[in-house]
Amino acid sequence: MTTQVIDVIDTCNLACPYCFGPVNSKKRMSLSQVESKLDKSSKYVVLTWWEVLLHPEIEDIIKLVYNKWKKIIFHTNWILLNKEFLDRNKKFLYRINLPIDSNIPEINEKTRWKIHLKRIKNAIDLVKNSNLKLSITSVFCSLNEDYFDKLADFLETIQPDLWRVFEFKNVEKLKNADYLTPNQDKIKFFLDYMKNKSFKRFEFIASDSEFYSSYN
Ligand code: SF4
Repeated sequence: MTTQVIDVIDTCNLACPYCFGPVNSKKRMSLSQVESKLDKSSKYVVLTWWEVLLHPEIEDIIKLVYNKWKKIIFHTNWILLNKEFLDRNKKFLYRINLPIDSNIPEINEKTRWKIHLKRIKNAIDLVKNSNLKLSITSVFCSLNEDYFDKLADFLETIQPDLWRVFEFKNVEKLKNADYLTPNQDKIKFFLDYMKNKSFKRFEFIASDSEFYSSYN
């Protein structure tokens, strides 16, 4: 099974400290650029980064990709996600991905935004009530490394279809971000803790994984 990732916009409305993403260039792909990128052999298309809902033609892009018989995995930080958008588009979407770094408000605030946690919980409910598949991504860094067992307990009650945890990786684009590098013993503790948890699918992406190679 192949998955194709299409980065439709180079802008975000958050400023997470570990983000090697958007330069906020305002660059975005046109419908015809998206169409020309579509690889007919891939089974899923991930529409991402950085914040897809900032693209003014995102709903046309969704329909375009859907009409090419691709299943769409939609990555959003939720800020602009609402019921009306989901009602209009849920029949075109396969899975929605939402980010959360801790279920403890003051810890999540350090990586995301002050009211992120409250809203992400609402967004999780919206996605589940829309009967869409839900995936969650989290970044394991020094700011939240002591609280991943609690996040695991919380997410186990939600049962996302996938929980993917990325180990923070310092890349060239980030300046002075060494302080975010997590402690390896804390990663080991978390991975041991996960052995007794029951998730539909759990993946830990280590900082030396292939995933990061294109971002060095
Ligand atoms: S929401 Fe994602 S793209 Fe936006 S700043 Fe945070 S990590 Fe970067």
